[in-house]
Amino acid sequence: MPPLSNTHPLRQIVLTHEHADAVLGLDDIRAVQPYSPTNDIAPTAIYLSQEAMDSVGVKFPYLVQKKLKEGQEVRRVAQLDWKIIENDCKKPFVASGLELVPLPVSYTTSIFTQF
Ligand SMILES: [Zn+2]
Repeated sequence: MPPLSNTHPLRQIVLTHEHADAVLGLDDIRAVQPYSPTNDIAPTAIYLSQEAMDSVGVKFPYLVQKKLKEGQEVRRVAQLDWKIIENDCKKPFVASGLELVPLPVSYTTSIFTQF
């Protein structure tokens, strides 16, 4: 069976919230991205709220980091293009050709974005 990245590229992701059930797979996106020893590949777009972005930056700082620090070796990590959306039903956005309308809902102590 050919690698998944050759048959079904993952181009865009919409994250509804920052809980573990939504974000713990982010580290494994590299498994479905093309391989490049220098990580020079087209990144996968990820749409998420600023609140979710802040949480992801704490949980996965190496996925958010844009440039290597001096002396840091290239490490194969998922290449992601973070796209901040507003939790505002008056501000739809387009992902994978679909117009999505953010619908903020309360879930425990967090705000979810439904579409
Ligand atoms: Zn959750």
